[in-house]
Amino acid sequence: MPRPVPLVTPRESALPWHAQAADTVVATLDSHAEHGLTSDDVLARRARVGENVLAATRRRRVDRLILAQFRDVMVLVLLGAALIAGVLGEPEDTIAILAIVILNALLGFVQEFRAERAMAALGALSAPAARVRRNGKDETVPASALVPGDLVLLEAGQIVPADVRLLTAHALRVEEAALTGESQPVTKQQTPVGGDAPLGDQFSMAFKGTIVSAGRGCGVVVATGARTQLGRIATLLEETDDARSPLQQRLAAFGRQLALLVIGLCVVIFAAGLLRGEPLGLMFMTALSLAVAAIPEALPAVITVSLALGARRMVRREALIRRLPAVETLGSVTYICSDKTGTLTENRMRVDSVRWGDGVHIDVAQWSHEHDTGIRPTELLALCNDVVQQPDGSLVGDPTETALVEAARHHGVDYETLTRQWPRLEEIPFTSERARMTTVHRRADGNAEGVLVCSKGAPERMIRDCTHMHTAQGLVPIDADRVMDTADGMAAAGLRVLALATRTMPTMPSPLDAVERELHLLALIGLLDPPRAEAQEAVRVCQRAGIHVVMITGDHPATARAIAQRLGIAGPEDDVLTGAALLALDDEALAERVSRTRVYARVTPDDKVRLVQALQAQGEFVAMTGDGVNDAPALQGANIGVAMGRGGTDVAREAAHMVLLDDNFATIVNAVREGRRIYDNIRRFVRFVLSTNAGEIWTLFLAPLIGLPLPLLPIHILWMNLVTDGLPGLALSAEREEPGVMERPPRPPKESLFAHGLWQHAVWVGLLMALLALGTQAWALHHNNPRWQTMTFTVLTLSQLAHVLAIRSETRSMLAIGWRSNPALLGAVLLTTALQLLVIYHPGMAGIFRAAPLTLFEFLLCVGISALVFVAVEVEKVFIRHWGWYGTTARRT
Ligand code: ATP
Repeated sequence: MPRPVPLVTPRESALPWHAQAADTVVATLDSHAEHGLTSDDVLARRARVGENVLAATRRRRVDRLILAQFRDVMVLVLLGAALIAGVLGEPEDTIAILAIVILNALLGFVQEFRAERAMAALGALSAPAARVRRNGKDETVPASALVPGDLVLLEAGQIVPADVRLLTAHALRVEEAALTGESQPVTKQQTPVGGDAPLGDQFSMAFKGTIVSAGRGCGVVVATGARTQLGRIATLLEETDDARSPLQQRLAAFGRQLALLVIGLCVVIFAAGLLRGEPLGLMFMTALSLAVAAIPEALPAVITVSLALGARRMVRREALIRRLPAVETLGSVTYICSDKTGTLTENRMRVDSVRWGDGVHIDVAQWSHEHDTGIRPTELLALCNDVVQQPDGSLVGDPTETALVEAARHHGVDYETLTRQWPRLEEIPFTSERARMTTVHRRADGNAEGVLVCSKGAPERMIRDCTHMHTAQGLVPIDADRVMDTADGMAAAGLRVLALATRTMPTMPSPLDAVERELHLLALIGLLDPPRAEAQEAVRVCQRAGIHVVMITGDHPATARAIAQRLGIAGPEDDVLTGAALLALDDEALAERVSRTRVYARVTPDDKVRLVQALQAQGEFVAMTGDGVNDAPALQGANIGVAMGRGGTDVAREAAHMVLLDDNFATIVNAVREGRRIYDNIRRFVRFVLSTNAGEIWTLFLAPLIGLPLPLLPIHILWMNLVTDGLPGLALSAEREEPGVMERPPRPPKESLFAHGLWQHAVWVGLLMALLALGTQAWALHHNNPRWQTMTFTVLTLSQLAHVLAIRSETRSMLAIGWRSNPALLGAVLLTTALQLLVIYHPGMAGIFRAAPLTLFEFLLCVGISALVFVAVEVEKVFIRHWGWYGTTARRT
């Protein structure tokens, strides 16, 4: 039996909350049914019961992160090698290997720590919020800030933020599958239920973590955090993490294959060395170091870091990533299906024109007509409305409804007084599917008999239930065609059209549906919602980037068409497909239509799911926006589900891959742009690492074949692995976006990371580096130069730096990019060069690295030889630019 322990310790005999009368619960919790708690109450209670969270958020602890750096197989192998070196009596090697392992771990830790922090910050941003009434004012607070006694407001699409005893419930339906396993929504009520009712029958309660699927309600918080019903079973709900992106999975698989190849080569190198009479210990260490250096075991981790840091950049531009792989896949989007209201438009509505059903314009200032209740028409404009007026006079609520209240206020209606004079008895809430809303009112002073019904919604839905319409000449029988012509005309001007109708009834009917019949049409109201200024440009960017923009709206087809034309989404010839027409199409016919339809109107969330599937069946990669509770399946089904951060519901946000904090269409396009940049940078990094590793392998593999002694010592290999792979590689990810990043077609989602010549590049650049290094070695040996090994080592290191500078772009020459546009990279290259000088010229370091100080001539010679790599890659780019090498033409700007 639920016996939450909030602030009061219930007596043994006390009834559970669901069995107590609502006002008793409020009194017991020392709250106030109208004003809620005061700020002081809240502070005092939070101090006593703590935050409303299930368990301490599972941030990976710092020490675990450090430990993780040493759990890698390669690191363990290296530690083993250090031990063996010590046993073999090479203490310098032991020290050097340990130093390298520690440096490596430090670098990995710093990166992952940054990524972790970035993700934790994003997690905090996407934490759910709750609507509460405190100090008599409605406000939005993080759900974690709720305390027992708080008054919370519930509405469709919300995730219930705490365990709540309901004080009011209007058609409130809650889906409790998370708690009871029952997938059918349960209708909630305010009246108490029996004390021994099981959880699923406690209709007077709403429980944390369940979903409000319809209606509205208000309740008092009786339990928070671990004391909620959900808190008791929270251990069962360990989050499942599906965070590995397709790219990471493919890379991990690739890494395993490469590892096998490298190990095979290392065995060959080891055997060849022994045959040539090299010492066993040295050959063992060489093969081992090479394996450690050349197996790109860190690639998947590096990609996580790039994605996480990319996500952090995106949130600065109002795109909050909820699923990390989305960062990578955004670049593949071929279709963006966007809601109209609020995403493509500003969602700042204003009443633009009001007409009688026969089309005659109404001057609202002069608007009057006989109504049997005596209510004025301007008052009716604002009556069927959920907007709340705050003590400071500001209005909180849906923009469509706010516009109506504002228009009424503008014409002298006092909204506060109106809602007091005409208290609401019942309501049938608005849903997108119904596209209408109805309220029933009683006159508070009792002067009027019966009840007043007020209904508003999409004209074609309302008209069926209207028997009469008001005109300048008085009440006349409805002329449905005339009304629809008027509505269509207003919609064609880009206005959102609402029909407003009323009736009076002697008593409240049962069932309630009867109130939506035999209505009198009062007027048609046209609301103006201007397109967002930046949306037009964003649509144009999409079109250049090979991304189709589709508008999906619950609004009227003519309104949709007008706005779509203004934004450049559709031309005057393009047709608009309505939800009803969509329903009539079978899958085959739909497949044919989706590829040319740009505007869908009067669609329901179910239609959205079908559209996503139809587009995906054509091989498209779909981003779909949504905000309502019923949009969740479409968001989940889309390749990138995009929820609204401001206007959206919790349920939509939970289902989405990405949340638009500013609800703005242009933000999606910016995120796609950022996704493309991040993918490009991951490619750069992989290109760099693989080429570098190939260089090292070729060098050690070819040396014995052309009769040269072992060119490098293990310590050299490890040094290159850390320093030349590490710093410049990381700095590559700071590369800015390529010009024209939004002027090439989307990357096919299945395209391999190695497409467009990546592996060919790695193979030939690696070979070139090896030949240059071995050539230097042969030349120096030929001249009996004792510093041949230091020269070989230096050429290999510097040629990797030359390479990293050249591959900042796959197509554009360095001269075009400019040297200073990536200062981090330039810094990394200079720093690495300085470290290499230190290794050669500092006596202590040179001792460890068995290096000898090169003469100035020798050093400059090494620089010159290494620079050839840069020149060669620049020549490769010329081939790519002019002859479309590697099939790169499609990517060209
Ligand atoms: P989208 O955001 O997908 O572009 P939308 O917000 O325009 O769609 P809905 O909010 O589902 O679509 O509205 C659909 C229709 O319902 C509107 O065209 C309007 O006629 C009617 N409508 C909208 N809001 C209300 C409301 N608060 N009360 C009554 N009817 C409404």
